[in-house]
Amino acid sequence: MDIQVTKIGMVSCSGEELPEGTISRIACRKVLTDLKPNETVTICLPLFIAGGEEERKFAKKYPTITVDGCEKLCAAKSTEMFSGKPSKSLVVPDILKKHNLSAPKKLRHFGDEDQAAIQAVADEIAKSVKEVLEND
Ligand code: SF4
Repeated sequence: MDIQVTKIGMVSCSGEELPEGTISRIACRKVLTDLKPNETVTICLPLFIAGGEEERKFAKKYPTITVDGCEKLCAAKSTEMFSGKPSKSLVVPDILKKHNLSAPKKLRHFGDEDQAAIQAVADEIAKSVKEVLEND
């Protein structure tokens, strides 16, 4: 993995059972490809939990932002357990509530009406990336 000091690791929950889990993954991807491509990498949560050494080492050394689809906080708890406390722990329902947005009705294959929710979560992650880098 090509890592620079300015990188932040985003750890998204891998929830398939809630639309909010799917939102967390799509929003992280949007941050990685569109909003903060030079400042972020994604950390694969299943591999991280399964013992991926590179992922765990990265998360020990560099700041992380976790994005969870519900209050069970799988990404935040796993990151803290295996590597250290995340710099920011975001929860999709909290972000949607803050922006007065509803979660998609479907589990995946979201439509145009769901794009505002994805964008709001992506913007919140990007804002957190900026804050973490400024305070690092
Ligand atoms: S945080 Fe919630 S949605 Fe995400 S993997 Fe855990 S239980 Fe599933």
